[in-house]
Amino acid sequence: MNFKQIASYDNYLLANMAMGMMTENDIKCQMKDEYIVTIDPLLNPAVGGIKLLVEENDFDRAVALIKEAENNYLKEIACPVCKVCTISIEEKINTPQDFWSRLKNQILYGQSATYSKNYRCTSCNKIFTELPPSF
Ligand SMILES: [Zn+2]
Repeated sequence: MNFKQIASYDNYLLANMAMGMMTENDIKCQMKDEYIVTIDPLLNPAVGGIKLLVEENDFDRAVALIKEAENNYLKEIACPVCKVCTISIEEKINTPQDFWSRLKNQILYGQSATYSKNYRCTSCNKIFTELPPSF
């Protein structure tokens, strides 16, 4: 069985919620590095957060599930700047062209491409790296 990383979380609660959602939908999944992150949050950037892995065959279905849940959640969050609920997700996958950067990513994250995610308010165009808390 092949497991593939679907997401990484810097928060145990979120990782756990996502995992619960997978289990409810009969998707085999596992967490990686959750102990390191929970015990010492300062190590979090070094290990790249808590990784959620799903079985390769379920990957596409799992991605769709996470996107849907996230979009539903975002609809209820008001932008801290303009107070309008128009926050959307901006995802980026960076694949470095040179060998050494790819190697560095491979060592740090276990894969050559890195993934970054931001949130943008489409009303005032403000970008957030972390999801603003819901009020
Ligand atoms: Zn805004």
